[in-house]
Amino acid sequence: VAEAQSIAGVGKVERIESPGYGEHVRVRAFDGQGKGNSILLIGHTDTVHPRGSLAERPWRLENERIYGPGIFDMKANCAMALEALRACSAFKDKINREVVLLLTCDEETGSETGRALIEEEARRASNVLVLEPPASGGRVKTGRKGTGMFTLEVKGRAAHAGLEPEKGASAILELARQIERIDALNKIESGTTVNVGVIQGGTRSNVVAAEASAEIDVRFTTQDEAERIKRELHSLKPVDERVQLLMHGDINRPPLERNEKVLALFERAREVAAALDFELGETQVGGASDGNFVGA
Ligand SMILES: [Zn+2]
Repeated sequence: VAEAQSIAGVGKVERIESPGYGEHVRVRAFDGQGKGNSILLIGHTDTVHPRGSLAERPWRLENERIYGPGIFDMKANCAMALEALRACSAFKDKINREVVLLLTCDEETGSETGRALIEEEARRASNVLVLEPPASGGRVKTGRKGTGMFTLEVKGRAAHAGLEPEKGASAILELARQIERIDALNKIESGTTVNVGVIQGGTRSNVVAAEASAEIDVRFTTQDEAERIKRELHSLKPVDERVQLLMHGDINRPPLERNEKVLALFERAREVAAALDFELGETQVGGASDGNFVGA
Protein backbone atom coordinates (compact mmCIF):
# COMPACT_ATOMS: atom_id res chain seq x y z
CA VAL A 1 0.00 0.00 0.00
CA ALA A 2 2.79 2.40 0.92
CA GLU A 3 4.66 1.54 -2.30
CA ALA A 4 1.53 2.22 -4.35
CA GLN A 5 0.99 5.56 -2.63
CA SER A 6 4.52 6.61 -3.49
CA ILE A 7 3.76 6.46 -7.24
CA ALA A 8 2.96 9.81 -8.87
CA GLY A 9 0.09 8.63 -11.07
CA VAL A 10 -1.68 6.76 -8.29
CA GLY A 11 -4.81 8.25 -6.77
CA LYS A 12 -6.88 6.25 -4.36
CA VAL A 13 -5.49 3.14 -2.66
CA GLU A 14 -8.06 1.08 -0.79
CA ARG A 15 -7.79 -1.86 1.57
CA ILE A 16 -10.95 -3.92 1.37
CA GLU A 17 -11.55 -6.38 4.15
CA SER A 18 -12.09 -10.03 3.24
CA PRO A 19 -13.33 -11.83 6.38
CA GLY A 20 -11.41 -15.02 7.00
CA TYR A 21 -8.79 -14.33 4.31
CA GLY A 22 -7.17 -10.94 4.83
CA GLU A 23 -7.64 -7.88 2.70
CA HIS A 24 -7.84 -7.02 -0.97
CA VAL A 25 -6.01 -3.97 -2.32
CA ARG A 26 -7.41 -1.73 -5.04
CA VAL A 27 -5.19 0.90 -6.62
CA ARG A 28 -6.60 3.54 -8.96
CA ALA A 29 -4.15 5.32 -11.23
CA PHE A 30 -4.58 8.11 -13.78
CA ASP A 31 -8.21 8.51 -12.77
CA GLY A 32 -9.96 11.53 -14.15
CA GLN A 33 -7.90 11.18 -17.34
CA GLY A 34 -10.28 8.54 -18.64
CA LYS A 35 -12.19 9.15 -21.80
CA GLY A 36 -13.01 5.51 -22.40
CA ASN A 37 -13.16 2.46 -20.23
CA SER A 38 -10.41 1.56 -17.82
CA ILE A 39 -7.59 -0.95 -18.14
CA LEU A 40 -7.73 -3.52 -15.36
CA LEU A 41 -4.75 -5.38 -13.96
CA ILE A 42 -5.58 -8.27 -11.63
CA GLY A 43 -3.37 -10.30 -9.36
CA HIS A 44 -3.45 -11.99 -5.98
CA THR A 45 -1.44 -11.72 -2.77
CA ASP A 46 -2.20 -15.19 -1.38
CA THR A 47 -0.10 -18.27 -2.23
CA VAL A 48 -0.60 -22.05 -2.22
CA HIS A 49 1.93 -22.45 0.59
CA PRO A 50 0.56 -23.28 4.06
CA ARG A 51 1.03 -20.89 6.96
CA GLY A 52 4.44 -21.24 8.50
CA SER A 53 6.20 -22.00 5.18
CA LEU A 54 8.16 -18.79 5.44
CA ALA A 55 9.52 -19.80 8.84
CA GLU A 56 10.68 -23.14 7.40
CA ARG A 57 11.98 -21.72 4.15
CA PRO A 58 12.75 -18.04 4.64
CA TRP A 59 13.14 -15.91 1.52
CA ARG A 60 16.68 -15.15 0.44
CA LEU A 61 18.51 -12.78 -1.84
CA GLU A 62 20.98 -14.35 -4.24
CA ASN A 63 22.72 -12.58 -7.14
CA GLU A 64 20.10 -9.82 -7.07
CA ARG A 65 17.26 -12.31 -7.23
CA ILE A 66 14.81 -13.10 -4.45
CA TYR A 67 13.84 -16.72 -3.85
CA GLY A 68 11.09 -18.00 -1.57
CA PRO A 69 7.63 -19.57 -1.34
CA GLY A 70 5.08 -17.70 -3.44
CA ILE A 71 7.51 -15.46 -5.33
CA PHE A 72 6.70 -17.00 -8.73
CA ASP A 73 2.93 -17.10 -8.10
CA MET A 74 2.84 -14.23 -7.67
CA LYS A 75 4.57 -11.72 -5.43
CA ALA A 76 7.03 -10.84 -8.20
CA ASN A 77 4.18 -9.99 -10.54
CA CYS A 78 2.46 -7.78 -7.95
CA ALA A 79 5.72 -5.85 -7.60
CA MET A 80 6.08 -5.61 -11.40
CA ALA A 81 2.58 -4.17 -11.70
CA LEU A 82 3.55 -1.36 -9.32
CA GLU A 83 6.75 -0.75 -11.30
CA ALA A 84 4.70 -0.61 -14.52
CA LEU A 85 2.45 2.03 -12.95
CA ARG A 86 5.52 3.94 -11.82
CA ALA A 87 6.97 3.80 -15.34
CA CYS A 88 3.68 5.01 -16.82
CA SER A 89 3.69 7.93 -14.38
CA ALA A 90 6.76 9.25 -16.19
CA PHE A 91 4.61 10.07 -19.21
CA LYS A 92 1.39 10.60 -17.33
CA ASP A 93 0.01 13.20 -19.77
CA LYS A 94 -0.08 10.70 -22.61
CA ILE A 95 -2.24 8.24 -20.70
CA ASN A 96 -5.86 8.59 -21.72
CA ARG A 97 -7.60 6.19 -19.42
CA GLU A 98 -7.81 5.02 -15.88
CA VAL A 99 -5.74 2.01 -14.83
CA VAL A 100 -7.03 -0.09 -11.95
CA LEU A 101 -4.80 -2.59 -10.18
CA LEU A 102 -6.74 -5.10 -8.10
CA LEU A 103 -4.82 -7.50 -5.86
CA THR A 104 -7.10 -10.02 -4.17
CA CYS A 105 -6.21 -12.26 -1.24
CA ASP A 106 -8.31 -15.40 -1.81
CA GLU A 107 -7.53 -16.51 -5.38
CA GLU A 108 -5.96 -19.85 -4.49
CA THR A 109 -9.03 -20.96 -2.54
CA GLY A 110 -11.54 -20.01 -5.26
CA SER A 111 -12.01 -16.23 -4.82
CA GLU A 112 -14.99 -16.46 -2.53
CA THR A 113 -14.84 -12.78 -1.59
CA GLY A 114 -12.64 -11.46 -4.43
CA ARG A 115 -14.84 -12.58 -7.30
CA ALA A 116 -17.50 -9.86 -6.98
CA LEU A 117 -14.82 -7.16 -6.89
CA ILE A 118 -13.11 -8.57 -9.98
CA GLU A 119 -16.36 -8.84 -11.90
CA GLU A 120 -17.38 -5.30 -10.95
CA GLU A 121 -14.07 -3.81 -12.15
CA ALA A 122 -13.94 -6.04 -15.26
CA ARG A 123 -17.32 -4.71 -16.42
CA ARG A 124 -15.91 -1.17 -16.48
CA ALA A 125 -12.74 -2.20 -18.30
CA SER A 126 -11.98 -2.37 -22.01
CA ASN A 127 -9.00 -4.66 -21.42
CA VAL A 128 -8.04 -6.91 -18.54
CA LEU A 129 -4.48 -8.10 -18.06
CA VAL A 130 -4.05 -10.98 -15.62
CA LEU A 131 -0.69 -10.88 -13.86
CA GLU A 132 -0.39 -14.65 -13.34
CA PRO A 133 3.04 -16.15 -14.06
CA PRO A 134 3.63 -17.16 -17.70
CA ALA A 135 4.39 -20.55 -19.21
CA SER A 136 8.02 -21.37 -20.07
CA GLY A 137 9.67 -18.80 -22.33
CA GLY A 138 7.35 -16.07 -21.07
CA ARG A 139 4.33 -17.29 -23.04
CA VAL A 140 1.01 -15.74 -22.03
CA LYS A 141 -2.04 -17.87 -21.35
CA THR A 142 -4.83 -17.24 -23.84
CA GLY A 143 -7.02 -20.17 -22.79
CA ARG A 144 -7.71 -21.76 -19.44
CA LYS A 145 -9.93 -24.59 -18.35
CA GLY A 146 -12.83 -23.96 -16.02
CA THR A 147 -12.86 -25.68 -12.64
CA GLY A 148 -15.28 -27.23 -10.21
CA MET A 149 -14.79 -28.57 -6.69
CA PHE A 150 -17.09 -31.23 -5.28
CA THR A 151 -17.20 -33.34 -2.14
CA LEU A 152 -19.02 -36.65 -2.00
CA GLU A 153 -20.17 -37.49 1.51
CA VAL A 154 -21.16 -41.11 2.14
CA LYS A 155 -23.26 -42.11 5.15
CA GLY A 156 -23.38 -45.81 5.98
CA ARG A 157 -24.13 -47.73 9.18
CA ALA A 158 -21.56 -48.57 11.84
CA ALA A 159 -21.34 -52.08 13.28
CA HIS A 160 -18.71 -54.23 14.98
CA ALA A 161 -16.80 -56.01 12.23
CA GLY A 162 -16.44 -59.21 14.30
CA LEU A 163 -19.70 -59.43 16.27
CA GLU A 164 -22.40 -58.26 13.88
CA PRO A 165 -20.98 -57.22 10.51
CA GLU A 166 -24.33 -57.89 8.79
CA LYS A 167 -25.83 -54.92 10.64
CA GLY A 168 -23.31 -52.56 9.09
CA ALA A 169 -23.32 -50.81 5.73
CA SER A 170 -19.80 -49.74 4.86
CA ALA A 171 -19.41 -46.17 3.71
CA ILE A 172 -15.88 -47.02 2.60
CA LEU A 173 -16.97 -49.87 0.33
CA GLU A 174 -19.68 -47.67 -1.17
CA LEU A 175 -17.21 -44.85 -1.73
CA ALA A 176 -14.78 -47.21 -3.48
CA ARG A 177 -17.55 -48.27 -5.88
CA GLN A 178 -18.58 -44.67 -6.55
CA ILE A 179 -15.01 -43.62 -7.29
CA GLU A 180 -14.99 -45.97 -10.31
CA ARG A 181 -18.12 -44.26 -11.63
CA ILE A 182 -16.74 -40.78 -10.99
CA ASP A 183 -13.51 -41.67 -12.77
CA ALA A 184 -15.51 -42.87 -15.78
CA LEU A 185 -16.72 -39.27 -16.30
CA ASN A 186 -13.26 -38.32 -17.62
CA LYS A 187 -13.29 -37.35 -21.29
CA ILE A 188 -9.73 -36.56 -22.23
CA GLU A 189 -10.50 -35.87 -25.92
CA SER A 190 -12.85 -33.02 -24.89
CA GLY A 191 -10.38 -31.72 -22.34
CA THR A 192 -12.53 -32.81 -19.40
CA THR A 193 -10.75 -34.21 -16.37
CA VAL A 194 -12.28 -35.53 -13.15
CA ASN A 195 -9.91 -36.38 -10.30
CA VAL A 196 -10.68 -37.85 -6.90
CA GLY A 197 -7.73 -36.36 -5.06
CA VAL A 198 -8.53 -36.91 -1.39
CA ILE A 199 -10.48 -39.64 0.42
CA GLN A 200 -11.29 -40.03 4.07
CA GLY A 201 -13.33 -42.50 6.08
CA GLY A 202 -13.73 -44.88 8.95
CA THR A 203 -12.68 -44.84 12.57
CA ARG A 204 -11.07 -48.21 13.43
CA SER A 205 -10.17 -51.35 11.52
CA ASN A 206 -12.66 -53.45 13.49
CA VAL A 207 -15.62 -51.16 12.81
CA VAL A 208 -17.71 -51.14 9.62
CA ALA A 209 -17.29 -47.53 8.52
CA ALA A 210 -20.29 -45.26 8.96
CA GLU A 211 -18.71 -42.30 7.18
CA ALA A 212 -16.47 -41.68 4.20
CA SER A 213 -15.91 -38.80 1.82
CA ALA A 214 -14.03 -37.87 -1.33
CA GLU A 215 -12.87 -34.53 -2.72
CA ILE A 216 -13.22 -34.20 -6.47
CA ASP A 217 -11.50 -31.76 -8.84
CA VAL A 218 -13.21 -31.15 -12.18
CA ARG A 219 -11.79 -29.29 -15.23
CA PHE A 220 -13.36 -28.54 -18.63
CA THR A 221 -12.92 -26.34 -21.71
CA THR A 222 -16.60 -25.72 -22.47
CA GLN A 223 -19.63 -24.78 -20.42
CA ASP A 224 -21.54 -27.77 -21.86
CA GLU A 225 -19.04 -30.19 -20.37
CA ALA A 226 -19.29 -28.36 -17.03
CA GLU A 227 -23.04 -28.92 -17.04
CA ARG A 228 -22.67 -32.60 -18.01
CA ILE A 229 -20.28 -33.34 -15.15
CA LYS A 230 -22.37 -31.47 -12.62
CA ARG A 231 -25.50 -33.34 -13.70
CA GLU A 232 -23.78 -36.74 -13.57
CA LEU A 233 -22.22 -36.13 -10.17
CA HIS A 234 -25.53 -35.12 -8.66
CA SER A 235 -27.32 -38.14 -10.07
CA LEU A 236 -25.03 -40.82 -8.58
CA LYS A 237 -27.10 -43.53 -6.86
CA PRO A 238 -25.82 -45.79 -4.07
CA VAL A 239 -25.03 -49.43 -4.91
CA ASP A 240 -25.99 -50.46 -1.37
CA GLU A 241 -29.38 -48.88 -0.80
CA ARG A 242 -28.86 -48.59 2.94
CA VAL A 243 -26.16 -46.03 2.25
CA GLN A 244 -26.82 -42.37 1.58
CA LEU A 245 -24.84 -40.23 -0.87
CA LEU A 246 -24.62 -36.45 -0.45
CA MET A 247 -22.90 -34.45 -3.17
CA HIS A 248 -21.71 -30.96 -2.21
CA GLY A 249 -19.92 -28.33 -4.23
CA ASP A 250 -20.34 -26.73 -7.61
CA ILE A 251 -18.67 -25.38 -10.73
CA ASN A 252 -16.35 -22.64 -9.51
CA ARG A 253 -14.68 -20.92 -12.45
CA PRO A 254 -16.06 -20.93 -15.99
CA PRO A 255 -13.57 -21.71 -18.80
CA LEU A 256 -11.55 -18.85 -20.30
CA GLU A 257 -12.26 -19.57 -23.95
CA ARG A 258 -9.70 -18.54 -26.55
CA ASN A 259 -12.12 -16.38 -28.52
CA GLU A 260 -11.63 -13.46 -30.95
CA LYS A 261 -11.52 -10.79 -28.25
CA VAL A 262 -8.83 -12.67 -26.35
CA LEU A 263 -6.84 -13.10 -29.57
CA ALA A 264 -7.16 -9.41 -30.47
CA LEU A 265 -5.72 -8.43 -27.09
CA PHE A 266 -2.95 -10.98 -27.44
CA GLU A 267 -2.13 -9.59 -30.92
CA ARG A 268 -1.83 -6.09 -29.45
CA ALA A 269 0.42 -7.37 -26.65
CA ARG A 270 2.56 -9.19 -29.21
CA GLU A 271 3.07 -5.94 -31.15
CA VAL A 272 4.09 -4.06 -28.03
CA ALA A 273 6.47 -6.86 -27.03
CA ALA A 274 7.98 -6.96 -30.53
CA ALA A 275 8.72 -3.22 -30.26
CA LEU A 276 10.78 -4.14 -27.17
CA ASP A 277 12.54 -6.97 -29.05
CA PHE A 278 10.65 -9.68 -27.22
CA GLU A 279 8.85 -12.42 -29.07
CA LEU A 280 5.65 -13.05 -27.12
CA GLY A 281 4.22 -16.56 -27.37
CA GLU A 282 0.95 -18.00 -26.14
CA THR A 283 -0.38 -21.25 -24.69
CA GLN A 284 -3.52 -22.82 -23.24
CA VAL A 285 -3.48 -24.50 -19.84
CA GLY A 286 -5.57 -26.64 -17.50
CA GLY A 287 -5.22 -24.41 -14.45
CA ALA A 288 -7.85 -21.73 -13.89
CA SER A 289 -7.25 -18.23 -12.57
CA ASP A 290 -9.37 -15.18 -11.89
CA GLY A 291 -8.96 -14.48 -15.62
CA ASN A 292 -11.69 -17.09 -16.06
CA PHE A 293 -14.25 -14.86 -14.34
CA VAL A 294 -13.21 -11.94 -16.50
CA GLY A 295 -13.44 -13.94 -19.73
CA ALA A 296 -16.95 -15.10 -18.90
ZN1 LIG B 1 -1.63 -17.37 -9.17
